[in-house]
Formats: sequence, structure tokens, C-alpha cells
Amino acid sequence: MKQYIYADNAATTQLDPKAFEAMIPWLRDEYGNASQPYSFSRKPKKAIAEARAVIAECINADPEEIYFTSGGTESDNWAIKGSAFSDSGHHATITSQIEHHAVLHSCEATERIGYPVAYLPADEEGRILPETLDRYISDRTRLVSVMTANNEIGTIQDIAGLADIAHAHGAMFHTDAVQAVGHIPIDVKALDVDMLSASAHKFNGPRGIGFLYIRKGIKVCPFMDGGGQENKNRAGTENTAAIVGMSIALMNNTQNMRNTSDSIRSLENLLITKLIEEGLVFRRNGANTLPGLISLSFQNSNGEMLLHRMDLKGICVSTGSACNGSSDEISHVLQAIHLPDEYAKGTIRISLGKHNTESEIFKITESLKQILMPK
Ligand code: PLP
Repeated sequence: MKQYIYADNAATTQLDPKAFEAMIPWLRDEYGNASQPYSFSRKPKKAIAEARAVIAECINADPEEIYFTSGGTESDNWAIKGSAFSDSGHHATITSQIEHHAVLHSCEATERIGYPVAYLPADEEGRILPETLDRYISDRTRLVSVMTANNEIGTIQDIAGLADIAHAHGAMFHTDAVQAVGHIPIDVKALDVDMLSASAHKFNGPRGIGFLYIRKGIKVCPFMDGGGQENKNRAGTENTAAIVGMSIALMNNTQNMRNTSDSIRSLENLLITKLIEEGLVFRRNGANTLPGLISLSFQNSNGEMLLHRMDLKGICVSTGSACNGSSDEISHVLQAIHLPDEYAKGTIRISLGKHNTESEIFKITESLKQILMPK
């Protein structure tokens, strides 16, 4: 197999080998349906309960507040649509202009059937300021949804400050923490959020599994109708292997978070220092960013061209969010932060993870120099 330098960890991550090992028995031998009452199903049922408890502990929630989903997209859809559909008064949702499409398109879907939505502007560094929310919110607001950290530019938001304003107006607060969980400390009680979305494949767990934290007492409609799984809130036979894999990956990432983020930060600093040393001129987007999430804009260049030329050198980077990968339009996030077009068009996202090395950073910077400053 060709050896790639994988620097697109915000798109997805390599599966933790311990998570993989832990999944095998549930795929091969212990295939019982966890909802069945016979003894063969006792082990998968117990494994799911243990995984729920582990995940809850990692974010300081109670196990009954964790609902398994198929990933970040489903969790976001559930939070936005489930809270709207439980509200016959058609109160408003407030979200931000820089959310992932899983949130934005869910909001648009509710708007089409009569639920009003307002979209908060961001500042030039991608921050949603509490004072901006304060201007938009009213006692007719049902839900505020602002992401914990942005997937294109990495900006981390003041979630506790925003949730505080939402609650002062009697609104619920949801955060899409898909890029943050497993990478920065997340404590749902300290953040005071009512719902939080997460996705395993962003923290070295398997793809196709995630969870939605729903604080006890919060009113949201079930998202999937069918059987009685997930306390009658999300129907469908449980994916035991994926749930177990997700819990192991999250536990490992949480236990090693400090060391991992320190080493990713030092790779990030090395990359920036090398680019400057090589004489490359660029603009870095975002502020107070996630470790290793680096959005770089090269004036009068072309992000698509950079992505493909890096690909030819065996290096995986992205132009913006993973879901924008095939479009050469300027992403909604770069537009929202008012990045001038001549920079926005030449933007790439390099997202480092725990498997990247110093020698890979040298290859990345050397390759960018060869592409942008040919001799
Ligand atoms: N939210 C954010 C911030 C993301 O970055 C992503 C994926 O890129 C999603 C939601 C969707 O997650 P999933 O791929 O698990 O559906």
C-alpha cells in the first residue's frame, strides 16, 4: 500500500488499534442482538452499558444522558429538528453562520416548515461573541446552537458564556462538539450545555457511530422512529462493536489528552516556523484554535491546485471542510469571517493528529515550498 502523509485529521482519523481489538469479539463471536432477553444477549447488553458509562465519564455526564447515533450528522439533525418538532409554539432557533452543514442544513429544513432561524455573524477570527448573541436573542428563542470548535479554521468558542445567555432567556443550548470531543477537555456540566454532538471517527474511533448528550429533563422528540432502543428515543438495533470501539477510543484519547495535545502543538509550531523560514508568505485563519488544526491562506494561489499537487507528493490535506472537498467555491466559513477573496481562494487546511511526526512536517513544508516557490 502506498505510504501517505496523512494531515487531514479533521476529516477523519486513524482507528486506535486498542479500539479495533476491542471491537473484534462483537463482530465475530458475540453477535447477539443486545435488545433480546435471552442469555446470549447479556454480554452485548452489558458491553453497551459499560461503553455508555465510560463515554459519560469522559464528558462528565450521567450514562442515561448519552444516546448513541450514527455520527455527528445524525446527532446535529436530532438536536435541531428534535427540539423544533417538540415545540408547537414555533419559537426561533439561533445558530451561527460558521456551523457545519449538518447544523446549517438541519436549520434550513426546519425553516422551510415554518420554524424561524437566525444566523449569528462571526468576527474575523471566527469567534461568535456573547454580545452578538445577546443582541439577537429574545424570549421567543427556543434553541441556541453554536459549535464548540470550527472544523475549517479551528476557532474554539466561549461555550459557557454563550450557554449562559441562552439560559437567561429561557432557551436551550446545543453545541456541535464533533471536532472538540477527545481533543480538548469537555465537561458538559462546566459548559452548562443541554445537548452536545460527538462523532467517534474524529477521535480515533470507528466511522458511522457517534452520540448525542441530552441533559436530563430536556424536551426533544425522538429522531428515529421504530423499536424501543436508547430508552425509546433512537430506534434501531445497537451497533455493539462500534459503540465499544468508540468508548475505548474516547477513553484513550481523554486519558492521554494533555501529552497528545502538547506534542501536536509542538508539531504545529514547527510547521509554522519552517514555513516562515522557507520564506513562504501566508495568513493563518482562526484564533484560540484546536491543537493541530491549521488553516493557511496563500495570496493569489488556488486551494484546489495546492490540494492536488500535495496529493501527487503523497500528502493528504484539505481545502476547507471535508464536505466541501469537491467544490471550488469559497467556503461559507471563510466568507463569514470576511477573508478577502485573494486569500480565501488560496486556502488549505492542514490538520495534524497523534500519528504525525516531525519528519512529516519537514516533508509538508518542503512540498509547499516546491509548489509555491518553484526554482
Ligand atoms: N460537525 C462538524 C463540526 C464536523 O466537522 C463534522 C464532520 O466533518 C460533522 C459535524 C459531521 O460528522 P459525521 O461525519 O460523523 O457525520
